[in-house]
Amino acid sequence: MTKQELLKTHFGYDTFREGQEAVIDALLAGKDVLAVMPTGAGKSICYQVPALMMKGITLVISPLISLMKDQVRSLNQAGISAAYLNSSLTQGQYFTALRYAKAGRYPVIYVAPERLTTEAFLDFALSADISMIAVDEAHCVSQWGQDFRPSYLKIEEFVAQLPKRPVISAFTATATKEVREDIARLLDLRDPFCTTTGFDRENLYFAVKTPKDKYKEVHDYIMEHPDDSGIIYCLTRKLVEEVCGKLIRDGISATRYHAGLSDEERRNNQDDFIYDRCHVMVATNAFGMGIDKSDVRYVIHYNMPKNMEGYYQEAGRAGRDGDPAECILLYGGKDVVTNQYLIERGQENLEMDAATQQLIRERDQERLRQMTFYCFTHDCLREYILKYFGEYGKSYCGSCLNCQTEFEEKDITEEAGAMVRCVQSCGQRYGVNVILDTIRGASTAKIRQYHMEENPAYGDCAKIPARKLRQIFNYLVLRDYLALTDDGYTIVKLTGSSESLLDGEKHLTMKMPKEQEPKRKEKRSRLSKASAGELGEQDEPLFQRLRALRLEIAREEKIPPYMVFSDKTLIHMCILKPGNEEEMFNVTGVGRYKFEKYGKRFIDAVQNM
Ligand code: ADP
Ligand code: ZN
Repeated sequence: MTKQELLKTHFGYDTFREGQEAVIDALLAGKDVLAVMPTGAGKSICYQVPALMMKGITLVISPLISLMKDQVRSLNQAGISAAYLNSSLTQGQYFTALRYAKAGRYPVIYVAPERLTTEAFLDFALSADISMIAVDEAHCVSQWGQDFRPSYLKIEEFVAQLPKRPVISAFTATATKEVREDIARLLDLRDPFCTTTGFDRENLYFAVKTPKDKYKEVHDYIMEHPDDSGIIYCLTRKLVEEVCGKLIRDGISATRYHAGLSDEERRNNQDDFIYDRCHVMVATNAFGMGIDKSDVRYVIHYNMPKNMEGYYQEAGRAGRDGDPAECILLYGGKDVVTNQYLIERGQENLEMDAATQQLIRERDQERLRQMTFYCFTHDCLREYILKYFGEYGKSYCGSCLNCQTEFEEKDITEEAGAMVRCVQSCGQRYGVNVILDTIRGASTAKIRQYHMEENPAYGDCAKIPARKLRQIFNYLVLRDYLALTDDGYTIVKLTGSSESLLDGEKHLTMKMPKEQEPKRKEKRSRLSKASAGELGEQDEPLFQRLRALRLEIAREEKIPPYMVFSDKTLIHMCILKPGNEEEMFNVTGVGRYKFEKYGKRFIDAVQNM
């Protein structure tokens, strides 16, 4: 079969996406490949299709067990025989899989990097016909990457032992130059074909918000999108517990994921989310790598993450199916402090010398700074992201919060002065809320308890809305006029620059959103835009019916619903209303194997509507 035929037969797609075909052609011509593609761009097809066209076995090296399982299951769904070899198998299962592998049963085998140089695996590999090695998440080989894994360094050692050098392809979503160079060097790629696919994900909407009450913001958002699946990322396990607990208390079907849970619980919770038994996943960044739930409609960051690489990767888990999805970051001044703490602490247990550790820490600090600027920019957010990854964006995308907001330059000299005065005269002992409540002249229990009514700045900014004061406060922290500490409780401190604001001589301005409702963004709905705009209200019942059928099949087969068919495929069915086999093949995402399994039931459902 040709590559086009394979794409249609196994995956049900008619055309390759940007970048895929060039990578496939290079691999088939025997060239090594280094492909940088953003999350959701479709990396797997780049090595899966050539794997089916090459004579021998393709080994896919992948860092995470969940990732391998998911991929293998998807391949099996597509009628491709594949297996994985990792520590989740019992010894018996492992040896059985190796035996089948030896017998040539699997054209594609996923393997964990730690396994490569073990005796049992080498015994297999040395006698097998391995035609390609595909290294997924290849940035894990680099110490400059954000997820360095020492076991990735074994890959080269392994390849060197093989009797015949296979073609090597490396895939990653991390684009920085250092990482790219490391990948090429440490995997010993030979004159590789290098490609970088556009980082822009047009279907994603970006926003940064600084709500006073983050929980309420999240809660309200979820209530407005009751049918959608979404992920809420938090910086710490503690916060995951707290937010998830509150959501459940408020009647929302949420579940959670972080490294502090047992393997079993993590697996169960992840499945609940993937199988649509729970709509909302609250998680630390431990969740998500390799989870191809293509219909995640929103990713909300409860805290600012520690770098743009991480942010874009996590946010990019929204809308992999290409339909509109939203990425919202909720910024709070404390996020910077927490991240700083995590950076300081995070490196200690890695096997690196002190100088390298120091260098990495400095890089992390710089990355954190860039991340913070994202939260404060008034320019197009999409452009900021693309620039960060070395691409040119348009200065106006029209589908991020900043592009939809009008800003104006405001004099904030008075407010800034009041804040500094307040902090100074209370002896730098209190947190943000106390300071802001004081200058607003509020009369809360805390204000009375700390006698803040007697503070000279009390009520100085009584006319300014709390939201604005918070923005100004965050701006002062960003510009180093005030600082936050983290000794269990965040306290506002003065800095070397604070004094310059005390007497009001120095004029300070900042850009602020104009006082008007931002243009109401088009309501995101599957009936609009990316789903081709053709699905009318009248097709909603059919869509619901097909969804129900999909869920029924998923339960029968114990696979996630999106592995039966994606939303996009169901929508296309609603539009085309296929009545026979031939018409069904015109639906995107319907390949031969899936047709044979499910085609008839879906045709019946469409026809009996
Ligand atoms: P990545 O690993 O780059 O994050 P995946 O390989 O998981 O992305 O692919 C993301 C999604 O895009 C999957 O649902 C996949 O089936 C889909 N996809 C990949 N290639 C194509 C294509 N040529 N046409 C349509 N959908 C595709
Ligand atoms: Zn924009």
